[in-house]
Amino acid sequence: MTIALTAHDAKKELMVQFCIAYCGILSRHSLCGTGTTSKMVSEATGLEITRFLSGGQGGDQQIAARIACNEIDLVLFFRDPLTRKESEEDKAQLLRLCDVHNIPVATNIASAEALIHALERGDLDWRNLVH
Ligand code: PGA
Repeated sequence: MTIALTAHDAKKELMVQFCIAYCGILSRHSLCGTGTTSKMVSEATGLEITRFLSGGQGGDQQIAARIACNEIDLVLFFRDPLTRKESEEDKAQLLRLCDVHNIPVATNIASAEALIHALERGDLDWRNLVH
């Protein structure tokens, strides 16, 4: 499965901690993500991550384009709901495409944990069948 990672600045450290905690599971999948998020996670975990541009530079759109092409199976987007961002529209578009293409997406750590356990149990394997 291919998992996309992105996090607003206030949630990047949380994303790093999440990826450290679930490094074993994540290492068995293909990972990609926006620039800074990917850099921080790969430096902290040693995980190999295909690094796109920063969110505001087009990284969100790179993820969105891959969702549209059915190349992404799961999105972990740790959102900061308290700060207004310039790249808000790109992130909204990314979330919209997850809904259009039925891609499981978590916007906070609680739902991310639920999805990562579902992934580990094989509950998301049906996605391989429809690809
Ligand atoms: P970044 O992009 O990982 O490059 O910071 C995400 C964002 O724009 O918040």
